[in-house]
Amino acid sequence: MGKLVIVGTIAFDAIETPFGKTDKILGGAATFIGLAASHFNVDIAAVSVVGGDFPKAYLDLLSNKNIDLTGVEIVKEGKTFFWSGRYHNDMNTRDTLVTELNTMGNFKPKVPKNYQNADVVMLGNLHPLVQSNVLDQMSETPKMVILDTMNFWMDSALNDLLQVIKRVDVIAINDEEARQLTGEYALVVAARKIHEMGPKYVVIKKGEHGALLFHDGHVFFAPALPLEEVFDPTGAGDTFAGGIAGYLAKTGDTSFDNMKNAIIYGSTLASFCVEKFGTERMVNLSNTEVFKRLMQFKQLTQFDIELT
Ligand code: AMP
Repeated sequence: MGKLVIVGTIAFDAIETPFGKTDKILGGAATFIGLAASHFNVDIAAVSVVGGDFPKAYLDLLSNKNIDLTGVEIVKEGKTFFWSGRYHNDMNTRDTLVTELNTMGNFKPKVPKNYQNADVVMLGNLHPLVQSNVLDQMSETPKMVILDTMNFWMDSALNDLLQVIKRVDVIAINDEEARQLTGEYALVVAARKIHEMGPKYVVIKKGEHGALLFHDGHVFFAPALPLEEVFDPTGAGDTFAGGIAGYLAKTGDTSFDNMKNAIIYGSTLASFCVEKFGTERMVNLSNTEVFKRLMQFKQLTQFDIELT
């Protein structure tokens, strides 16, 4: 069985969308990534930190999904990372209302010994020095290292970010972030520049318009499934990345063809995430539902054309 290490936030989120508002609920990048990856029957360890205010029920929820929490530090006297956001009417854009780092502010990641030889490492959106620190702890070179980041780190820690980008195989960022990182508007040119920074696979997310996978002069497109209801996009990007990471840990195949499948899995899982608030949909998602939606995806993109 493949082994996957995930580093990222385990958090409280408070979300406002045109459909409603939540109090502090379970959130965080590592949470969404872990829930998505739990569909692949691989060994998963989360590396994170929470405060003494974090409910045991949330931790149990994650360990019941077979996510090893040995690497999740609990700082009894500290508070858990808190993020609050409000979505605009188009549901594609959002404002961050609050980010309280709390215990995340002094986070020193510790990869459990039995996971230092993991096949896949998923570096969730965090300070690039924390991401590098996790890679430093690996005793063997992982088959695949996947990195997520955001404009905030490009603004505040660009050099550290460029150092960690050099060390990863896959980068998954959204279109605006790819443009900011490279100064290029055309995504094909931006992807080429990011390749030159290190990663052999560049995944550019375009929200409800799907995702592009670039590799060695080739490009593959995965649509997002057109949905009737989108309640809350929070965590969709992390869920997408978690699907990729879980699938790669399961298959151990890092070829371009297999990466295409990984992207389709990521899109499929993300399509569920947005249907309910926070993690609600992902917590109760069955493998049968995932399988059915994969079939829908196939129908969405498959066609026969005679090329003469
Ligand atoms: P996404 O919608 O995929 O961008 O991910 C949203 C999740 O990321 C939320 O559950 C937040 O708790 C978490 N998050 C928000 N801001 C940050 C940040 N600056 N660093 C790490 N995680 C964050």
